[in-house]
Amino acid sequence: METTKRYDVAIVGGGAAGLSAALVLGRARRRILVIDAGAPRNAPAAHMQGFLSRDGMPPSELLAVGREEVAGYGVELVDDTVTSLEQISGGDVCSPVEVAYRLHLAGGSAVDARRVLVTTGVSDHIPDLPGIRERWGRDLLHCPYCHGWEVRDEPLGVLGTNAGSVQHALLIRQWSSDVTFFAHTSELTDMECRRLDARGITVVFGEVARIVVEDDRLTGVELVDGRFMARTAVFVRPGIHPHPDGLLAGLGCHHDDTGFVTTDRTGRTSNPGVWAAGNVADPRAQVITAAGAGSAAAIAINNDLVQADTDRAVRTDHGLAPSRPQCEAAPRG
Ligand SMILES: Cc1cc2nc3c(=O)[nH]c(=O)nc-3n(C[C@H](O)[C@H](O)[C@H](O)COP(=O)(O)OP(=O)(O)OC[C@H]3O[C@@H](n4cnc5c(N)ncnc54)[C@H](O)[C@@H]3O)c2cc1C
Repeated sequence: METTKRYDVAIVGGGAAGLSAALVLGRARRRILVIDAGAPRNAPAAHMQGFLSRDGMPPSELLAVGREEVAGYGVELVDDTVTSLEQISGGDVCSPVEVAYRLHLAGGSAVDARRVLVTTGVSDHIPDLPGIRERWGRDLLHCPYCHGWEVRDEPLGVLGTNAGSVQHALLIRQWSSDVTFFAHTSELTDMECRRLDARGITVVFGEVARIVVEDDRLTGVELVDGRFMARTAVFVRPGIHPHPDGLLAGLGCHHDDTGFVTTDRTGRTSNPGVWAAGNVADPRAQVITAAGAGSAAAIAINNDLVQADTDRAVRTDHGLAPSRPQCEAAPRG
């Protein structure tokens, strides 16, 4: 791939959000490149739940079908990692006609694009306890909407790790009446204890030593003092961070105080040629909502390019830049 290769839109990340955007933009006859590092967030899970008409499909299958669909519209797919993004020409917030970006890839090449959509997802930070990482997405779970039905009515545990853990336990109670809250490193207020008790959730105080696994199944939780509680699945609320650190900050995109990029409702960031969609902008997004956000961003990006193409055509025909009032009236997706 030569450095001069130029696309209408480069999409960084080929998960549900990125591929949905690519589908819309490919069908809009745009020249699109998707660069994907191949590590979607839900890869450890055997099944993807809650996606209407695809409930239970393996996550890898959804993406394989998606890649085939977008390739059918001429979208190019590259297996690589974007290491940095650079703005190489101007535009302004009102009329970003000439905005262009250069994307540097881990493989050593670079590509240019008029607009960039970042859909790189998040990384989940789970406690560093023996046995825990290997069970992630199998019987060490975080999202009851993704996994709750599959473990309904079973003896479940919830690991207390942060301020939201009690609320998490109250949520999990919706799927089973046998829930044990392991306080672990969290400190509970009297009111929190009363709320857990009122819902029949057992509270076990004391630090957790490890998740116990036998015959490739989680069988319980062992505390530092030696106690063992039999459980068949344990929920934990991970720390969630946009992935990878700093990719959007390099373009001056504003972030909120949790570290997530701020966007308008189409996914446009404070850099007018850069959009973000899916988990990287909204950590709560499920696969179906990440896909929807990618689709909405794609429509806004195409509208923006139509506007830019028209502005350029007007300038070429009349040697004029579009006036500010015209520009302000322009649709923004
Ligand atoms: C264990 C687990 C199970 C889950 N189960 C479900 C479920 O059953 N149902 C459900 O709706 N949701 C589920 N989710 C949530 C689901 O994973 C997310 O909603 C979804 O993956 C978000 O899609 P996305 O496109 O935003 O990000 P992702 O799917 O994470 O895709 C991001 C892509 O970008 C790539 N990437 C990252 N950085 C770069 C870079 N610098 N350059 C190039 N590519 C890059 C990644 O490798 C990845 O392929 C689950 C999550 C977890 C952790």
